Amino acid sequence: MNFTIDLHVHTINSDGQYTPPEVIDIARSKGVKTLVFTDHSGITHSKEIVSYAKRAGIEIPLMGIEISTIHKGNKYHVLGYAKNFRNSELESYLMYPTAIKNERYIKIIEMLRSSGYNIPVHREMLKGINVNGTYMHKDKWMFTGTLIASYVSQVSGLSPDEARSLFSGGIYPEKRFIYIEKGKSREERYLPTCEVIRKLREYGAVTILAHPWWECTGRGNTTENVIAHFQDFIDAGLAGFEALSQQNDECFVEAGNKLDKMYPHLLHVGGSDYHGDKRPDLGVRGVTEENYRKLMEMVRI
Ligand SMILES: [Zn+2]
Ligand SMILES: [Zn+2]
Repeated sequence: MNFTIDLHVHTINSDGQYTPPEVIDIARSKGVKTLVFTDHSGITHSKEIVSYAKRAGIEIPLMGIEISTIHKGNKYHVLGYAKNFRNSELESYLMYPTAIKNERYIKIIEMLRSSGYNIPVHREMLKGINVNGTYMHKDKWMFTGTLIASYVSQVSGLSPDEARSLFSGGIYPEKRFIYIEKGKSREERYLPTCEVIRKLREYGAVTILAHPWWECTGRGNTTENVIAHFQDFIDAGLAGFEALSQQNDECFVEAGNKLDKMYPHLLHVGGSDYHGDKRPDLGVRGVTEENYRKLMEMVRI
């Protein structure tokens, strides 16, 4: 089933592959009529982007954001939607999980460069400069382990996956690399889920739990845990969850039904979590007209 409304879409401003206009062009080719960009930790929204979309026959009715959070030892991604939640205090608060990661990535880059690897400095990486000095894109790109790994694989002969695992404490081929510790605990690296929900609510945003079951397949969380945690999230002001997501497969239908029985007022939202060619299903998962209308009624500002 294809949807014309997709409320979970990433661009090059976080870990997506394409610029906002490129994503808009792809969305048009897939019949999407309404979309919201939900980049990690940063708001992708401007008059230019909205009018580019309008010319392509696509409406961008809201600002969106996705935040990495932690609750009782489990990671959750919170989506926020608002007409306008641009505010420097809020934006720097929401930037925290990304800022913490960036500090470590900069150390890794310094280590690689001082070990003789000819890779760009982090600012050049964000601008999309290739190892040979040409540009892969001329825009901002979230500073991720995946991004650095793509440079490392170009100069080291490792595959991107092998290079990527260097940053999570995986392989150390021929002991060429020094592992840089993550330093802080998980609790210290992410924002508390309920605090993020409350903060976004303060600024008029509607909050939705993204892909609720994503840590239930070998990542230490269980569906029972997630369902139990929902009461805390609802108390903090959570409006709904992604009933449809690329990371919700058939084995979680039952858990979703349980949630619905316990909390029938929760809004069903859905999105593709589009990232580009690796997660390509723009519009394949989405939100129904009715749930979209309910969400829009909840957006205050
Ligand atoms: Zn996510
Ligand atoms: Zn996402």
